[in-house]
Amino acid sequence: MTLGARVADPKQFLKGATGDWEVVVGMEVHAQVTSNAKLFSGASTEFGGAPNDHVSFVDAAMPGMLPVINGKCVEQAVKTGLGLKAEINLRSVFDRKNYFYPDLPQGYQISQFKQPIVGEGEVTVDLTDGTSIRVGIERLHLEQDAGKSIHDQHPSKSFVDLNRSGVALMEIVSRPDIRSADEARAYLTKLRTILRYLGTCDGNMEEGSLRADVNVSVRKPGGPLGTRCEIKNVNSIRFVGQAVEKEARRQIGIIEDGGRIDQETRLFDPVKGETRSMRSKEEAHDYRYFPDPDLLPLEIEQVWVDDIAKNLPELPDDKKARFVSSYGLSPYDAGVLVGEQVSADYFEATAKGRDAKAAANWVINELFGRLNKEGKSIETSPIAPAQLGGLIDLIGTGTISGKIAKDVFEILWTEGGDPAAIVRDRGMTQVTDTSAIEAVIDQVIAANPDKVEQAKAKPTLLGWFVGQVMKQSGGKAAPGAVNDILKRKLGI
Ligand code: MN
Repeated sequence: MTLGARVADPKQFLKGATGDWEVVVGMEVHAQVTSNAKLFSGASTEFGGAPNDHVSFVDAAMPGMLPVINGKCVEQAVKTGLGLKAEINLRSVFDRKNYFYPDLPQGYQISQFKQPIVGEGEVTVDLTDGTSIRVGIERLHLEQDAGKSIHDQHPSKSFVDLNRSGVALMEIVSRPDIRSADEARAYLTKLRTILRYLGTCDGNMEEGSLRADVNVSVRKPGGPLGTRCEIKNVNSIRFVGQAVEKEARRQIGIIEDGGRIDQETRLFDPVKGETRSMRSKEEAHDYRYFPDPDLLPLEIEQVWVDDIAKNLPELPDDKKARFVSSYGLSPYDAGVLVGEQVSADYFEATAKGRDAKAAANWVINELFGRLNKEGKSIETSPIAPAQLGGLIDLIGTGTISGKIAKDVFEILWTEGGDPAAIVRDRGMTQVTDTSAIEAVIDQVIAANPDKVEQAKAKPTLLGWFVGQVMKQSGGKAAPGAVNDILKRKLGI
């Protein structure tokens, strides 16, 4: 497929004064490699140290210091490449990308330019409407992060913190295969999920472990690619969606007014909800890339790559397919559950030896719903899989109704405990004794002679009677029995 060949679904087009427009997005994601030490030094990568606590002579670019490649970072890049179904280059080269930044003491960033460690791959992205798209990966290369300039600690001075200087980043470059703000969000979400499954990046956007540079252009549907603008360092998935939307609208406005898009680097301001020009876009040749004379080309062996491939964890796409085929879940439910490894594990522990669809329903609707509401994550869930499983067992055996089960869920959430013991000790067992149910029904009928008359003409009133009986039985009457007896007694 040639660059930008896919045309968006017409419902994704943006309406302008001159007709429909199509948005074209590609992303460059900087993902911090999970490793204890930096890419070329032994300094710690731990987040949140005191300023300049994690800085070696190499990171501070002291004269005569030489970089030494960290094998762990190389392994993580290879692992990520395999997870992106990408080609692994057994020979890659580190280059110097030259530019001045106050927080870049070397005066250049060690990166990979012409020969990156990972070549072409792809990511399957599931969209909310149940369809999926493929986003091509152009390359993944390893490079150093820069330090940080701090401007808000002193009225007239800026400070530099080099803790991040030299930390390993994977820059993951996509093809311009994304066609809307929704797709852009979904792509980044999926990429983050893959990285987390692999354990190669923690995906923590608040701490800056994952940052997206979003390239946006607009064109007439299916037409030639327009000039793009790059929105730098967007640090949340929500902002990525907003930035795409705003930038596309801005470009459409300029073109429709007879203007021209200048290729430039822009910033997204989430407070004002707009993108702003930062600088005109520099070209690769401006950086005067050349192979770093301090580093030999990086050569790795196929057997080592094969060994990493053999030990890859089950990735989200495979897990989703397995949840559908072996548990009979809908693709949608399976997709929700595999969104995080811990959620998938929680579900599997709950479903083990039980009705898997019921387990999926309880995990997705009740548990996730409640966790969301209380701003908790699954790691801190007050209810363990064994407890939720026990609850599902009680429904399965008819010991409790689905309604009572929600009450038991509430007790498990707030007080904890064993679901079977809770049901037994608190007398929550479902009443299946038909004579007891019949007695309640007789009371309800006797108290509502008018409704009984009406029900004969209007059988939908049955629902009202069921409600009354359930209420009087404290929700414990078996719903099936209630229905059957009521129908018989009301003659409907
Ligand atoms: Mn980069």
